[in-house]
Amino acid sequence: MILEGKRALVTGSTSGIGLAIARAFHAEGAQIVLSGFGEADEIAALCREMDAQHVGADLSSRAGVEALMDAAGEVDVLVNNAGMQHVAPVEEFPVEKWDLIIALNLTAAFDTARRAVPHMKAAGWGRIINIASAHSLTASPYKSAYVSAKHGLSGLTKTLALELATDNVTANCISPAYVWTPLVENQIPDTMIARNMSREDVIENVMLERQPTKKFVQPGDIGAMAVFLCRDEAANITGSNITVDGAWTAQ
Ligand code: NAD
Repeated sequence: MILEGKRALVTGSTSGIGLAIARAFHAEGAQIVLSGFGEADEIAALCREMDAQHVGADLSSRAGVEALMDAAGEVDVLVNNAGMQHVAPVEEFPVEKWDLIIALNLTAAFDTARRAVPHMKAAGWGRIINIASAHSLTASPYKSAYVSAKHGLSGLTKTLALELATDNVTANCISPAYVWTPLVENQIPDTMIARNMSREDVIENVMLERQPTKKFVQPGDIGAMAVFLCRDEAANITGSNITVDGAWTAQ
């Protein structure tokens, strides 16, 4: 078990990709700090399952991130995964949604890293994994805030990698294309409106249209990649943006 004795914080880990990463880290012996929203009994069950701590702070505010980092304490592995999406043409894009998406998908990652790095440097080991997206490398219409935040997250990751290069602390992005999670399911109704399409058309002709394998990525695939990045053999993988996208960005 490669993460025995290590403490791992995974933001947005009550659902989807973050939950899969937390489970994969738990299987490797890490102490888990869960974050995110959800039903109290479901979160309690996750805490029992992984013998984990849960912090329910809202990471779209700096105060929320500070509260999370105060509660989480010193972490050896930081996964910035919490994120949200909104789909609308730029001229109709609600400005409050722009602010929220930039705050949660980008600024929170700066603030968690800022707080986590001193311990990682002192310990002489650390892993920062930012869950970006194929949209950190390419764009799609109607996702101005998300694409901007994810491109920014990729830039932040490269900067962290350079600053921490001699500290045995790596920083990487994992960039999935469509993974079947609540985040994806929830954007179908707005995409149906924005593109005047049926649900089936959105799935087949928008989501999977640009995914050459024609298959959704599985949350566990991202968990496995996150575990690999924690291995000693991954010490020289830093500053990378690793796609798990069924060749989406190869096009
Ligand atoms: P999800 O909606 O299933 O889970 C999001 C998690 O973030 C949940 O735990 C939720 O409670 C938490 N969260 C949401 N708002 C929060 C807030 N304000 N404060 C704290 N926690 C908050 O989403 P997912 O599909 O698992 O996505 C996880 C990450 O992966 C996101 O950053 C997303 O952009 C990225 N991603 C997802 C896909 C995909 O197809 N699902 C593709 C590429 C990238």
